[in-house]
This record gives sequence, structure tokens and C-alpha cells, in this order.
Amino acid sequence: MAAIAEQVLRLVLWLCLLCAIFLPLERRFAVHQEEAGERQRWPDLFYYFANSLLPMLLLAVPMALAAQLSRSIVPAAVPTTLSALPLAARLLLALLVSDLCAYWAHRLAHRWPLLWRFHAVHHSPTHVYFLTNTRAHPVDLLFVRFCGLLPLYVLGLAGPSVAGSATPVAVILLGSVWGFFIHSNIRVRLGPLEWLLSTPAFHHWHHTRHEHIDRNFAAMLPLLDRIFGTYYLPRTWPADYGTDTPVASDLGGQLAAPFAPAAASTALDRTES
Ligand SMILES: [Zn+2]
Ligand SMILES: [Zn+2]
Repeated sequence: MAAIAEQVLRLVLWLCLLCAIFLPLERRFAVHQEEAGERQRWPDLFYYFANSLLPMLLLAVPMALAAQLSRSIVPAAVPTTLSALPLAARLLLALLVSDLCAYWAHRLAHRWPLLWRFHAVHHSPTHVYFLTNTRAHPVDLLFVRFCGLLPLYVLGLAGPSVAGSATPVAVILLGSVWGFFIHSNIRVRLGPLEWLLSTPAFHHWHHTRHEHIDRNFAAMLPLLDRIFGTYYLPRTWPADYGTDTPVASDLGGQLAAPFAPAAASTALDRTES
């Protein structure tokens, strides 16, 4: 209980830091001015805390079990070799592998109706800003996080020891900070660096309502979208955001509706269109 209270306090401090950084920048360099009622502050705060705490509480056991099971499939030489790499090399490789697997998990969430029911919550805001990063149904977040981290344990890039946990912690931390940045409502471009790293413009196109929603799946490395043919980054910014899939406006509805049988047909409409 004390450990959870400590985590909540840590998250409060992180939130203060994020607000101190992003609120003035979003006011000064806004891509779009927020219209009245577009930002759902209380649901967004709930998602911020829930989606930061739940992976820590729920993923450790299934991750350990899945990693254990995979030992019978992956040759022992692979984790032995990769775990012996210097920390910097392990970290770079972990970022690449994690982003690659999260890319396909995210793409699957757009194609598979069962997953889209949950992922639609992340696409529902009509105003995208830094806290949209954590606005996701917990099932959706746990699925993508699980897919992004499991390969690190399977390949020996992460492990239960203190040294082994450095890579997943660094991947999660870096991914989280970058996630807040690419969702932020800040009109900024990174020039040649946009070849290497995702940006707000890159990810804002992913939040558009129609033809470009199935583009730019990568969280950090746009190269993945270039390789797999889903890259889209013009010089302009999107005009509007959201999804045609109906998503409840209240928090309870957003959390419960994806489990309802009726959600299946709606999700099917979207993924088959
Ligand atoms: Zn998406
Ligand atoms: Zn997003």
C-alpha cells in the first residue's frame, strides 16, 4: 500500500512537471486553439494515473510467464549473447525491437475489430494535446505495452536483475516522455531529425478522422512506417481529429462500452471500411 502511495506521489510530481513544460508551450505555439468543452480534464486525469499504475501492477506476472514459456522456442544462445552486450548497445537494440513490436501491435489494433473497440478511445478526442498520450482504454494500453516489452525479456535484452531491469525502465521512461511530446499541441518541426524521430506533426496525422488514420503507427521511429508503407508527413498540419466510431462521452461509458456485444458490429464497420 505504501509502495502504491509512493507511486501516486511520484505521478503527481511528474504531472506538475509536464504541466509546467507543456501548458505554456501549447498556449504560445498552439497548432489548434481548443474549443469550449473539447478537453475532458477529469477523464484525462483518470487515464493518466490509471494507465501509469496498471502496467506496473498487472504486467509483471504475465510477462514473466510468457518469457519463461518462450525459452523453449528461442535458442539459448540468443539471450546469452544479447544480454552480454554493453548497456548502450542493449538500450539501442531494445528501443528498436520494442518500437517494432509496438508498431505491429498498434497496427493490429486498427485492423482487428476486437482491439479497435478499445483503441477507439485513444482516437476519440477532437482536440489533441499532451495528455492525449495517456488517454487510452487500459486494455488497449496493456496490450500494446505487453507486446512492446515481452520481446525484450524473450531476447535477453531485459531480465529480473537490477541490471536487467535498466533497459525496460529506460524504454518505458523514454517512450512516455516522447509520447507526451508527440501528442502535444505544439507547432514544431524538427527538420532532418524527422527522418529519425517521430514528432507532433507525424503523430497528429495519425489522429485524423479519415484517410490518414491508418498511417504513422510508430511511437518513436518513423523509419518503421517508411519500411512498411504507412508513412505520411506533408508540410501541413491536420484540420481535424477524432474517429467516426461512436465513443461514450463519459468515463464510465468509455471504460464499459468496449466490453458490450454491440461494440463488435461498430468496430467491424470501422475496420472493414
Ligand atoms: Zn491508433
Ligand atoms: Zn496517439
